[in-house]
Amino acid sequence: MTRAKIEFRNVGLRYFSPSGETEALRDISFSIAPGEFVAIVGQSGCGKSTLLSLLCGLIAPTSGEILIDGVAVTGPSPAVGLMLQQDSLFEWRSILDNVVLGAEIRGADMAAARNRAEALLNRYGLGEFVRHMPDQLSGGMRQRAALARTMCLEPDILLLDEPFSALDFQTRLSIADEIGEIIRREGKTAILVTHDIPEAIAMADRVIVLSRRPGRVKSQHEIAFPSAGADRPGTLVARESEEFPHLFKTIWEELDVHVE
Ligand code: ADP
Ligand code: MG
Repeated sequence: MTRAKIEFRNVGLRYFSPSGETEALRDISFSIAPGEFVAIVGQSGCGKSTLLSLLCGLIAPTSGEILIDGVAVTGPSPAVGLMLQQDSLFEWRSILDNVVLGAEIRGADMAAARNRAEALLNRYGLGEFVRHMPDQLSGGMRQRAALARTMCLEPDILLLDEPFSALDFQTRLSIADEIGEIIRREGKTAILVTHDIPEAIAMADRVIVLSRRPGRVKSQHEIAFPSAGADRPGTLVARESEEFPHLFKTIWEELDVHVE
């Protein structure tokens, strides 16, 4: 058996503040294989972003431990790249200058970073927009530029925190398809956090369902589309597959979304 890329072992997290204590996550255990694409779904406030902050080393667990390549996470690591809901591109920098920003902050070799950035932007269909400013790009193009900026730092692990939430539905479908395809092609280990069940099913190899706060692992589902052939289909084909409605219904029921 190959070693897990990521492992959560009985992880708990409590936030302490003057107004009291919030238990965000309780006894979280799961592991992710190298190159696997996992989606984590759960309702708003169940601890999804907290889970990614722990993996990034931005906060430390109250109990348990988190391992990357068998080594405990003790702080931020260049091996982990994060992509957020807001693309947070700097409006006064060109697309290229945005993509190389991380390398600049790290004091890395800028000529090499610029070459990597241009190659990535070409691959992501933004080759003609290298010198453009962010406000000249559509929402979907901006998200691709944000992905290029994350990828330019050559992370081993890619974390996506509701990256498409700010986009309209149509853009969201196509950008999820493109970004899913890019992540698979580059063979990165990835975690997508979302409250959108169809998006999770369409993109991931496995879906982990979190309970309401404190977030616990409620269930896990391997996602496969045998009706679409041996290879994993793209997200748009996955959404149309005969397996999709059953997967959706199962996960929907587990999420226990009811109006109170
Ligand atoms: P999600 O991403 O699933 O919406 P979060 O991980 O952001 O959930 O938050 C989980 C819970 O922890 C929420 O109740 C939130 O209010 C609380 N929380 C998040 N960050 C902090 C913080 N820095 N201090 C105190 N409580 C926090
Ligand atoms: Mg969140």
